[in-house]
Amino acid sequence: MTKNEKIVVCGAGGFIGGHLVHSLLKQGYPVRAVDQKPQWQWYQRFLEADNLTLDLREKENCVKAVNGCDWVYNHAADMGGMGFIELNKGLCMLSVLINTHLLQAAQVCGAARFFFASSACVYAGNKQQRPDIPGLKEEDAYPADPEDGYGWEKLFSERMCRHFREDFGLQTRVARYHNVYGPHGTYDGGREKAPAAICRKVIQAKLSGNHEIEIWGDGEQTRSFMYIEDCVRGTQDIMHSEILEPINLGSSEMVTINQLVDIVENIADVHLNRRYKLDAPKGVRGRSSDNTLIQKYLDWEPSIPLRQGMEKTYAWIYDQMKSGASHDSIVNRF
Ligand code: NAD
Repeated sequence: MTKNEKIVVCGAGGFIGGHLVHSLLKQGYPVRAVDQKPQWQWYQRFLEADNLTLDLREKENCVKAVNGCDWVYNHAADMGGMGFIELNKGLCMLSVLINTHLLQAAQVCGAARFFFASSACVYAGNKQQRPDIPGLKEEDAYPADPEDGYGWEKLFSERMCRHFREDFGLQTRVARYHNVYGPHGTYDGGREKAPAAICRKVIQAKLSGNHEIEIWGDGEQTRSFMYIEDCVRGTQDIMHSEILEPINLGSSEMVTINQLVDIVENIADVHLNRRYKLDAPKGVRGRSSDNTLIQKYLDWEPSIPLRQGMEKTYAWIYDQMKSGASHDSIVNRF
């Protein structure tokens, strides 16, 4: 890969895609950035990129997106936190059109390499029934019992990547992300994930003086969280590697949701009364990433501890809320 070769990032108006575009531009790559949202709604938009608004469920739009590009990153999906994916299974599954048509376009346009952003939601439910379970290994995706809707779409699309590599010679790479967090993501409106939602709730409590917080479930469910900078670095490392099978990209630092709230309360220097909403969407009981494979192949481990990443995330969300900014209005110039 030389700096003359063009890269397309699909889903560039979203959280991870926006950070990836930024990183690639900083390294000097020519970048095309594609998203279906109007560009004023992109979380980050860089004038140096070739920015296109296209609905990538349509095959001809995928050809427009990929044409002339050597490497394709697919980060476009209709997704959100548990509150969104548990209630919008059909919409989540429709993202299968995006990856399928992008793979076809990459093949037709002669792209050299293709990246698919998969998820820990592909892992079998019966391996995640206790809070203290060991980290999930790549082989734990089978026998298949993924998250209904969103997880099935990811698992199917992983397999499509494999078959396009085996049958058509397209070089595909797949990462299974485990909960990514950081600035320039969504923190309200229903698609936000736990780290951003907890920051927002703590900030609201602090600013309003109503020192109460609602927590989904009993707070004893476990997760691990990866800071966005680690995600963007790991994503590119996987894309450049010869790792053919889907591989975990996440943190093995497992915490309960209650512990995550402790961290944010500590950052905010506030103590809140916790109200547990036991019937809220809460996902599996326990989940974190086993990083044995990625350590072996890439010597990769997250470099940013949870406390440090949450400080940066909290500070960014605080500034947004304090200034009354809606993330729709954030436009960055590189
Ligand atoms: P995001 O919602 O912030 O970004 C996704 C982007 O895709 C959005 O900007 C959306 O407008 C765009 N999109 C949706 N449908 C589209 C369409 N038809 N055509 C063009 N663009 C479309 O999500 P994210 O957190 O940046 O996630 C990026 C990828 O990583 C997704 O595939 C997601 O499933 C995967 N992933 C993310 C996490 C995480 O913790 N954030 C975890 C696991 C997997």
